[in-house]
Amino acid sequence: MEAKVELRMIISADEIHRKIEAMGCQISNDYKDRYPLMVGILKGCFIFAADLLRTLNFHYELDFLGTSSYGNDTASSGIVRLTKDLDVNVEGRHVLLLEDIVDTGLTLHYLCDILQRRNPASLKIAALIEKEIPRNVDLPVEYIGFKTPDIYLAGFGLDWKQLFRGLPYVAEVIEH
Ligand code: 5GP
Repeated sequence: MEAKVELRMIISADEIHRKIEAMGCQISNDYKDRYPLMVGILKGCFIFAADLLRTLNFHYELDFLGTSSYGNDTASSGIVRLTKDLDVNVEGRHVLLLEDIVDTGLTLHYLCDILQRRNPASLKIAALIEKEIPRNVDLPVEYIGFKTPDIYLAGFGLDWKQLFRGLPYVAEVIEH
């Protein structure tokens, strides 16, 4: 039988846009004149990255990394797989990773480990959402939009079983 799901709005479209504008100002101040490499982490980042990048008032290069750890599950498998590597050499570059949500932190930990070995000039993270859970990994998260409790979220790029990415707000997914 198909699971019934209810969506409970947690962060409104207005709140998201205001926060992204503010984050964009900070990033513009910090990265202007550095010609950084912005790296979106697929797939969930695509709306956050598109909105954030359009607020920036300096030139940057853009690339994407693909990872997969959840499949169609709502709990991380703990095993991260690289499904798409960068096309660009990061050596000596200022790199900013754009991530939709930091949950266990394992995905970012795995990616930071790979990228650090390629000797970037700097490596930082901008995340739209960070879940407030204890984490065993140390991550260079420099910019955070929102902190949420440990609930499963969808909308604004985030999916539930590949659905709801296009919602203009972020909602908790409640399965009945
Ligand atoms: P982590 O490795 O930090 O546990 O998980 C990172 C990735 O898992 C995120 O990039 C995102 O794709 C996915 N993820 C974690 N929590 C959620 C959630 O609440 N909703 C959705 N849709 N994806 C999540």
